[in-house]
Amino acid sequence: MKLDNIGFPTMYDERARHADQTTPMIRCDMVLTDLCTFRCPYCRGLREDCRGSVSMETAKKVIDLWTENGGLRELRLTGGEPTVWKGLPELVRYAKAKGVQSIGISTNGYSDMSLYDELIEAGIDDFSISLDACDAEEGDRMSGGIKGSWKKVTDNIRSISKKANVVLGIVATADTADSLCDTIDFALSLGAHDIKLISASQYNQLLTSAAAVSDEIRAEHPLLNYRIGNMLKGRNIRGLRENDSHRCPLVLDDASFAGGYHFPCTLYMRERGNPIGVPSENMRQERYEWYRKHDALKDPICSAYCIDAFAEYNNRYLYYRLKDQTIIPVLEPDRFKTDCFEKDGRAVIGAEEMTFDNAAEYTDVFLNNPSYRLLGICLSDDMPEEMNVQPKHTALLYEKENGETFWFTVKNSELGEMIL
Ligand code: SF4
Ligand code: SF4
Repeated sequence: MKLDNIGFPTMYDERARHADQTTPMIRCDMVLTDLCTFRCPYCRGLREDCRGSVSMETAKKVIDLWTENGGLRELRLTGGEPTVWKGLPELVRYAKAKGVQSIGISTNGYSDMSLYDELIEAGIDDFSISLDACDAEEGDRMSGGIKGSWKKVTDNIRSISKKANVVLGIVATADTADSLCDTIDFALSLGAHDIKLISASQYNQLLTSAAAVSDEIRAEHPLLNYRIGNMLKGRNIRGLRENDSHRCPLVLDDASFAGGYHFPCTLYMRERGNPIGVPSENMRQERYEWYRKHDALKDPICSAYCIDAFAEYNNRYLYYRLKDQTIIPVLEPDRFKTDCFEKDGRAVIGAEEMTFDNAAEYTDVFLNNPSYRLLGICLSDDMPEEMNVQPKHTALLYEKENGETFWFTVKNSELGEMIL
């Protein structure tokens, strides 16, 4: 799937194709404070060393670093609740003046509308607002028992949606997972432009009740459609699968700042993962080195909590590395015939898929065996579905000395380790 179709403005194929540690930063999250006006039951707060509020001076310095290599496509201000951070409109104006294209805010929606208006005036064009219930009783309960909070939040959503892009985040818990459709219908009735479904990390289940959302609604809301489509394919929102890239190139041009540190991503910070370092002129290099050493599949945070779109981005990055940067010719899918695979593939090589540890021993067989000439590769993303090649694999086409050909597949990540 092309990243452009997911619905996140900063997830697009051209980014994955060209990202490295020297290209401009694309997206950054900044945690301004851990203070909040709500007490949501699923909120886990921040790591101890990220608590408190950052100073205006520090926040501006971080924006300077993030924008120094060219424009930043998206800055997202978050918390805690960022609207309780003093000086927010000034910071937004500062980021705008620095050339940040889009400034977003993740808010509980409970601040006064006059502040939201001031923020829109200052340059915020994208609101991510939590809405966890479709009635006042449950909504007030989800805010931590603040009477009247649901009414104020929903009034604000109606108003903000007329002035800026609003994506409502619906966090499913064991208590709310069954009523998702009602909450989605209600959220859209408020004028929200799209919906980001996610399960609370403590819940982390497939959100099957969302299957009842109509095709018409899905067609008009790409983010909602993406999540439901994944769910219908059995893909949970959170968690990596064994065929996913074990590297995380997302960190090369996407960062999260909290408590004086830069983290791989906000999700990693929220799950109590360690920071990469302190923002400085060396930040990009530090992030690149982290990327080179880190194995997401072996990292308990990434493997359990990474979200689908991030994993998809990392897979797509790998796809382009293999497609654009290998010295092996990339062949048209037509060269790979199913009968050819069935005749010889498994018998000659001994396995359709190999784990990397195993495959490493077979590098010569894969790439340099004098008896077999490697004709080229084709990535499964480019192959028609009827060829039945597993997603995120690469097919390698070989020719034997007698001219017969055969092919087999390896995981993209394993091939990438061998040849990139
Ligand atoms: S609004 Fe966000 S930061 Fe505040 S309590 Fe709820 S989840 Fe936590
Ligand atoms: S959680 Fe996902 S995006 Fe974040 S560092 Fe891990 S692999 Fe990368």
